[in-house]
Amino acid sequence: MISLAKIAFTVAVIYAVWYFFKYRLRIAAAHKAMMAERARAAAEAAARNPGTPLAQDLVPCPKCGSYIAAGTACACEKT
Ligand SMILES: [Zn+2]
Repeated sequence: MISLAKIAFTVAVIYAVWYFFKYRLRIAAAHKAMMAERARAAAEAAARNPGTPLAQDLVPCPKCGSYIAAGTACACEKT
């Protein structure tokens, strides 16, 4: 004999699984939208400043050897 509690439990489990998948899809969609927005903002910033590299190149200082951003003066040269 199938009890009412068993049926209610099964329905609850099915509902929980369904809700979990819906929630996961919503998280994935939000994450995708966020990544697309971030990429769009980066592309926009790159278009605004063509001379600015997206990633800063680091070069070793010829005097002290510490790594500094390319095109900038090292701290050892300022003092
Ligand atoms: Zn230096």
